[in-house]
Amino acid sequence: MKQTLPARPFTRSRSARIYTGALIAVMHLIPITVLITGTSRTDWLLFAAIYPFQAIGVGVCLHRFFAHNAFRTSRWFQFVLALFCASTFGDPIRFAGKHRLHHLHTDCKDDPHTPLHGWWSSWFGSHLDSKYSDEEICAQVPNLTKYPELMWLHRNSLAPGLALCFIALLIGGFSGMAIGVLLGASILVHQSSAVNYLCHKYGRRRFDTDDLSTNNFLVSLLVFGEGWHNNHHRYPVSARAGFCWWEIDMFYWVICLFEALGLIWDVKRPPEQLRQAKLLPTG
Ligand SMILES: [Zn+2]
Ligand SMILES: [Zn+2]
Repeated sequence: MKQTLPARPFTRSRSARIYTGALIAVMHLIPITVLITGTSRTDWLLFAAIYPFQAIGVGVCLHRFFAHNAFRTSRWFQFVLALFCASTFGDPIRFAGKHRLHHLHTDCKDDPHTPLHGWWSSWFGSHLDSKYSDEEICAQVPNLTKYPELMWLHRNSLAPGLALCFIALLIGGFSGMAIGVLLGASILVHQSSAVNYLCHKYGRRRFDTDDLSTNNFLVSLLVFGEGWHNNHHRYPVSARAGFCWWEIDMFYWVICLFEALGLIWDVKRPPEQLRQAKLLPTG
């Protein structure tokens, strides 16, 4: 089994990586400071109202929709989904391009965040520098770069998140912004990294995929279904990552809700032959 791999060289300058690292550090330090100095009821009400949208923005929108086209939708609702992503300072084009490169080169030298490059590179390093240029990332997502509104978000990915911070600041003051917006965004950095790292290192492998992906029950609980990652690598276009009834997948429930409301359609699900495979319990 492969143990370590050399990583690709950096594509961004040292100062650009330090700048991004400083932004992420500040995003963490502000809510940590407020947690230590004291929070209010309004802060937590803001968190309860905003965090679900941020989490859906990462799991449903960035990953299952923008990266994998797991369902189809209208152009206006696509932009709404992009704004969900932007609430965590996410950029659909950058995330989807980088994630498609992950699936293209999973657990090989050119994977942007395989644990085979080491813990730091997998957990934090890929947020500072994906090791791919902007042109290489955009080339992965021609279906997204054709939309001017998504390209605007690509160029101004901090703007909607900062606008949300300003609204939270008006409602709950500095602590409202810190807990209401920045705490959730910080938690989601680690939820994403937990999938990238832990679900390529620890857990069970239902399918003998050509990578190290695993199904990890604990990560699935903590990341609302994203931890069924071996299932996901076996059938990446599926909107459903938990293939059986006991594989809790809350992001899939959200997708089913959107579908029931008529907001999305052509939801892709795992093929019946996978569900009927001897490896797979029915449910
Ligand atoms: Zn993966
Ligand atoms: Zn994926």
